[in-house]
Amino acid sequence: MQDLKIKLENNKIFFLIISFTIFSFYVFANEITDPSKTEIWEPSPKIVSISNKYIPSDAIILFDGNSLANWNSIEGGDAPWLVENNFFTIKPGSGNIVTKRKFTDVQLHIEWRTPLEVTKKCKIMPCTGQGEGNSGVFLQKRYEVQILDSFENKTYVNGQAGSIYKQFIPLVNVSKEPGTWQTYDIIFRAPTFDDNKNLKKNALMTVLHNGVLIQNNSILRGSTAFIGYPKYEFHEGDSIMLQDHGNEVSFRNIWVREL
Ligand code: MG
Repeated sequence: MQDLKIKLENNKIFFLIISFTIFSFYVFANEITDPSKTEIWEPSPKIVSISNKYIPSDAIILFDGNSLANWNSIEGGDAPWLVENNFFTIKPGSGNIVTKRKFTDVQLHIEWRTPLEVTKKCKIMPCTGQGEGNSGVFLQKRYEVQILDSFENKTYVNGQAGSIYKQFIPLVNVSKEPGTWQTYDIIFRAPTFDDNKNLKKNALMTVLHNGVLIQNNSILRGSTAFIGYPKYEFHEGDSIMLQDHGNEVSFRNIWVREL
């Protein structure tokens, strides 16, 4: 009887030692001491090269300097704006133009220039300041990043260059003098809708103006509205649109990457 008791006790000790050994091994094995444990090797990011014009190799060229073949008039038919010397210019009164291709999430690069000649710069109120070099880049034909001559031209701040029109004021004003080429780099996440066509996720927009961050992941409240408040309405992928606001704004070097 005594022997049996000793044997059981020994078994118990043996079991405890084994358990402790296994537990220690488990802890040791899971403790990250090897830097390679946190390395991920696959899948490798796709290789993208950059041309000497700083265009990524996976970009879709929307304007190559020669023609508006990738654009239509919003009314249908060819885009009627004027192409010359590697850029094109709004033909006032001819209406907006839209890309033939439709997009959802994108990185968009666009270069623009407001007219050198200014007419009635708004330095002292009352005036709107909206009449100098007004145009706009509309993502999915609905969400406008304002183009305007905002160099010493006062206007409502949620309507100046780099604003997400009537929704978000640019973080800083990086505007160059009129007649000077400027850049927008826009990262846009399109809104999503559920099966009942109700909004699921708001659109998001990040914008760099002349390389400087001016919109940092702004959460859009809806489509751009000139009068009233923005709201969302169901839509699918749609064109990028450039606005004819009656001023001879020029554009060049437009490319987009689908995200
Ligand atoms: Mg505009």
